[in-house]
Amino acid sequence: MAYIPDEVIEEVRNRFDIVEVVSSYIDLKKAGKNFVGFCPFHSEKSPSFTVSPEKQIFYCFGCQTGGNLFSFVMQMEDCSFPDAVRFLAQRSGITIDPVPSTPAEKKELQIREVLGEMHSLAQKYFQNILWKTPRGKEVLDYLSKRGLTKQSVTDFQVGYTGNNREGLTGELRRKGFDLELAVKGGLVGKNSLGRYYDYFRERLIFPIWDSQGRVAAFGGRIWGQGEPKYLNSPESPLFNKSRTLYAFHLALPHIRREKKALLVEGYMDVILLHQHGIKETVAPMGTALTEKQLSLLRGRLNKVVLVFDADTGGEIAALRGLELLKNEGCMVEVAQLPQGWDPADFVKEHGGKVFHQEILQQARSLVDYRLFTIKKRHDLKKEEGRVNYWKEARKVLGEIQETLEREEYLKKIAGEIDVSLEVLRGDLENIIRSFPAVGKKAVVKEAAPKSVSLKELVERELFTCIFKSSRYLKELKKLNINADSFLEGPHREIARVLYEMDQQGKEINTAAVLSYFSEQEMHKLIIKMVLAENLNEEDKMEKIFRDCARKIKTLCWTDERERLIKSLQNTVNREEISAKLQRIRDLKKWEEELYHSGEGEDFDV
Ligand SMILES: [Zn+2]
Repeated sequence: MAYIPDEVIEEVRNRFDIVEVVSSYIDLKKAGKNFVGFCPFHSEKSPSFTVSPEKQIFYCFGCQTGGNLFSFVMQMEDCSFPDAVRFLAQRSGITIDPVPSTPAEKKELQIREVLGEMHSLAQKYFQNILWKTPRGKEVLDYLSKRGLTKQSVTDFQVGYTGNNREGLTGELRRKGFDLELAVKGGLVGKNSLGRYYDYFRERLIFPIWDSQGRVAAFGGRIWGQGEPKYLNSPESPLFNKSRTLYAFHLALPHIRREKKALLVEGYMDVILLHQHGIKETVAPMGTALTEKQLSLLRGRLNKVVLVFDADTGGEIAALRGLELLKNEGCMVEVAQLPQGWDPADFVKEHGGKVFHQEILQQARSLVDYRLFTIKKRHDLKKEEGRVNYWKEARKVLGEIQETLEREEYLKKIAGEIDVSLEVLRGDLENIIRSFPAVGKKAVVKEAAPKSVSLKELVERELFTCIFKSSRYLKELKKLNINADSFLEGPHREIARVLYEMDQQGKEINTAAVLSYFSEQEMHKLIIKMVLAENLNEEDKMEKIFRDCARKIKTLCWTDERERLIKSLQNTVNREEISAKLQRIRDLKKWEEELYHSGEGEDFDV
């Protein structure tokens, strides 16, 4: 990822108040020194999402997520750290010249930039042919017959390729672009004779954007006769099909506001639904909805409605990702259109209001829909059909976590297959017990807490002290405790940052420390230490600090002593042996001295 200079990050951080940024996403209310609101990352009934203007951090007591301005934007916009910085920079008019940190990254960045320019040129080229040529006029007429307004055609940047074999290819060549790169980007093909040709020909073109709204690929629907009917750009450095939802950047503000999303199959479905005011609509690329695509939506909404054809619906509804969304408190519903209709035609014919009433409001819950599709496959008039229906249905019921909900469905099925409720309930309980994986696989569990070593605990307390007051860092230095005295891994990384900031005379505050890290896990760890509650009283903190400083020092010495003792076995040189023994004795002595300097306080290592 391209490197962004520290000064720029600093400038962006200073330009924004975290309360202001968070408020642009969710409603916050003042509560004492802090602000609180409903957490955008998990669903909750009472607000536990807290923003501290003083510390410039946020924290959720419900799902334990937390961080600074940047990590908040990263999670809301689902982007990387540099993208979050850029996103905010753009909002405040700060310009960032990307500085790649390694030659490989520099090369990759250049490739992506050039490919981006090519796609932007291609999009304008296709749009031009649609609007300014006689053949394009025919396509426009067709689009208008399908119900698209000119505004929608413009907003969604729809285009047309024309039938020229080397139209776009020639255009790219004239502008001096590297055609080999255009092949890599999926705009141009190359035949066995080494001749370049347009990848898309005689096609209606729908640009596909990345989450920032930049054209990253194209979807092409055949114009007239030909195969295949639909053709998408191949995967490229700009385009990853399984991570892309069509029109995501256009729908996102509405998804956020409505707290729900509509998933449909086709580009035309998306455009027409947006045009009729149902703007929280997106589409997976092709019919294969992936879990990565669902993860773009995770945490942003309370409800997902799938609007698919009868023949693909069943498969999609069985997707495991939907079960995950559901168990995170998100309602998942499946809406079905009357036979022979697709969403685009239906909304064109009947309008957005009727679509709401007759399609969306009639949607079934995911469980309901899955049971419905199972039932359709069996003949309930026959004994065998009823048995097989129950055998499949009980798997679905076994995954329901709410007892009440499960009971409702049991009752319904008992009626349908004319078996007593008690028998079904008994059978289901047996199943759940004998295959715990079936009943419980869908439960999203918090990872079990790792066992924590003494040193880890001690270091955490020290960090908490330092975050409260940087004078503790100076005390550590006096004791000759440096960053390398801390456990390798996250703790040492944090320690390095703290020592470095102190070295450079920078003020140590939480938000500044957080901006050194881009990983969510690090932010969580730091926030946890900052907010540790037992250290609020100054006196208590002083004592804890002294204890911990001594402990870490002795732990380091003990550690060194043990390593020396071990290494003695392989040491043959007499002088070396005696030097090591001397060091071991010294360490032991210092440990004891330090122990006694604790003035008889409780202190065990
Ligand atoms: Zn939360």
